[in-house]
Amino acid sequence: MTQERELAELTRLVREFSTERDWQQFHDPKSVILALVGEVGELAELFQWVPADQAVSRFSSPDRHARVAEEMADVLVYLVCLADVLGVDLGEAARAKLADSHRRFAADAVRGVAPHKP
Ligand SMILES: [Mg+2]
Repeated sequence: MTQERELAELTRLVREFSTERDWQQFHDPKSVILALVGEVGELAELFQWVPADQAVSRFSSPDRHARVAEEMADVLVYLVCLADVLGVDLGEAARAKLADSHRRFAADAVRGVAPHKP
């Protein structure tokens, strides 16, 4: 399955989940954004106080890896839901944004240099 079709299928599954429960009535953009931010917070909490140089190794154990994957999935589901509510083609928007980043950050000009604001 192509990534575009996977994203479309995920959108369909998220919509179906909400529809079956009559929860779409609660999915105004503000509420979905707050839910999304809450899930980002849950993901961030897993890394809270973990030294940066230990973050990868700390989450390589199966149970911690599963917890990170679970929170990342929550984030993705709410992001897909938000895109659906707002009529945004998330795949196309991401591709356009990445193309813009390619233009703004030519690899030969920025290789090995962390992006920062002046
Ligand atoms: Mg969660």
